Amino acid sequence: MNPKARFNLAYLIFAFFLIVCFTRGGPIYSSAHIPFSEFQTLLEGNKISEVVINDNQIIGKLKDPQGSEKKQFATNRVEPDIAKLLDAHGVKYSRVIQNGFFKDLLSWVVPVFVFFGLWLLLMRRMGGGRGGMGGFMSVGQSKAKIYVEKDTKVTFKDVAGVEEAKEELKEIVDFLKDPKSYGRLGARVPKGILLVGPPGTGKTLFAKAVAGEAGVPFFSISGSEFVEMFVGVGAARVRDLFEQARKKAPCIIFIDELDALGRARSVGGFSAGNDEKEQTLNQLLVELDGFDSSTGIIVLSATNRPEILDPALLRAGRFDRQILVDRPDKKGRVEILKVHSGKVKLDPGTSLEQVAALTPGFTGADLANLVNEAALVATRRKAEQINLSDFTAAIERMVAGLEKKNRLLNPEERKVVAYHEMGHALVAGCLPSADPVHKVSIIPRGMGALGYTLQRPAEDRYLMTLEELGNKMAVLLGGRAAEKLIFNHFSTGAADDIARATDIARSMATRYGMESSLGSVSYDSETGGYLGGAGAVNPFQYRRYSEETAREIDLSVKERVNQALLRAVTLIDANRGILEQGAQQLLEKETLVEEDLKTLFATLKREST
Ligand code: ADP
Ligand code: MG
Ligand code: ZN
Repeated sequence: MNPKARFNLAYLIFAFFLIVCFTRGGPIYSSAHIPFSEFQTLLEGNKISEVVINDNQIIGKLKDPQGSEKKQFATNRVEPDIAKLLDAHGVKYSRVIQNGFFKDLLSWVVPVFVFFGLWLLLMRRMGGGRGGMGGFMSVGQSKAKIYVEKDTKVTFKDVAGVEEAKEELKEIVDFLKDPKSYGRLGARVPKGILLVGPPGTGKTLFAKAVAGEAGVPFFSISGSEFVEMFVGVGAARVRDLFEQARKKAPCIIFIDELDALGRARSVGGFSAGNDEKEQTLNQLLVELDGFDSSTGIIVLSATNRPEILDPALLRAGRFDRQILVDRPDKKGRVEILKVHSGKVKLDPGTSLEQVAALTPGFTGADLANLVNEAALVATRRKAEQINLSDFTAAIERMVAGLEKKNRLLNPEERKVVAYHEMGHALVAGCLPSADPVHKVSIIPRGMGALGYTLQRPAEDRYLMTLEELGNKMAVLLGGRAAEKLIFNHFSTGAADDIARATDIARSMATRYGMESSLGSVSYDSETGGYLGGAGAVNPFQYRRYSEETAREIDLSVKERVNQALLRAVTLIDANRGILEQGAQQLLEKETLVEEDLKTLFATLKREST
């Protein structure tokens, strides 16, 4: 920081005294103070040439001062009645005026100092508790902590079970180790990388590991540290952070919890006026655009809520590479358990596979905690080593808490979910024109989803035909069909599938004009709600069709959904063996990818067209 800018208290005090001396100096130092009685004597002897009288003083000049006498004098007035009395008794008297100078000084200076002190205290607090007067002058500086290799000591070995993400980040490390030769073929390394995943899956750990592996300076800051009270402070911090980074390149900037600062900007909505956040975000966008990855700076960032990020942040050239750090599957959990159990005394006979099998849905952080809990259980029973029973006891203890948080499934529910998801995949496999299934998983994901089936569109599609919509509905209802066939029950797990299938059927009748009895008529007036249309239903909207038509639409929707369900049931019934097999594999491995499904579906009886 600039030493000249430092506020000097001494200057302030000096200036203050200077002012006091100039205003008060004259009368105090150049005149003689005399008693009032002497003044009266002088007056009677005609020795005074002129006087100036104010409230409590008489200042005057002598006609001809003698010897050491000063020409000017001052005296304090005394009440005339008392003066007469005193004169009568020959008393020498004078009035004393309490010196107002120090009183004035106190009444001015004390408040000034109190306010100055308060202000200083406040500023220092906001400056992050730095010592000295410089605290508040440095509000605009970034609070990024700089780590270098030897500080973090975390390497890729410490992060387990997320192999895909690790592969991608290794590429970044290679680049940072040798930025120059990396670009020899003209390839451009992404400058912004966003780690996305649920809390506790090791995103922060990954970022540290990248720095540890690459051995370059590592600026770590949390998104919330940019959020400040004053407009402009956050933006200044961003600027400062990138400035520092440029000096230290090649290096990594890591912004943890990006969502705190990268929230989508409001479109003149309710929260307009939140200028500070917007300015900070804009500054970040500017800085991201303002450097080239060939300079050797990589911006790494982590969030567990990518959906609320401002779209501008995710644009090409900014955080254009997203790496998913998901909950680990069983194999991954074994790896993570190995990493963490290396730090405790483990009975060599303990099967970590079994522990992993008991902990579906656990994240890396949960597993790290589990190892610790198991160690505590073992300590309590005064054992020398931790064995499987300690783990099961610890799991039981943790699951109750986690169930609320993460929706951990009991074995029976897991089985239902496995059949359900396999049902989706199987129906998709049976329909020649449906999108191929990319991945089936029973690892719970996000809010509410107990498992998921990802279909990979073969190509970008903007139009869909009646047939394709029908296929989509059948796949959506495949989950319910499988549950019905195997367990002969309906469960709540299909609610979302049903809602989506119903939406499709409804749109077919009311918007796409695909129902012959209703004709090619649009019954649905899409007004676009306040918050941007799609999905926003206006309850007061004027219905533009008759009761009979409404009934017909409902019947058509019901018919279509029922038919799709029937179709799914038929397909699954024909391939029941494969469904059983697939569900079993899913329960074991938790995730099946395209290749697994290909071998599984080799003997599939497809729908004949
Ligand atoms: P996130 O930032 O994704 O919320 P963290 O990186 O803070 O999660 O993880 C918290 C802790 O959990 C880590 O310090 C580590 O001990 C443990 N952990 C999480 N994921 C893993 C993993 N993949 N391998 C090893 N340990 C992990
Ligand atoms: Mg984190
Ligand atoms: Zn489903």
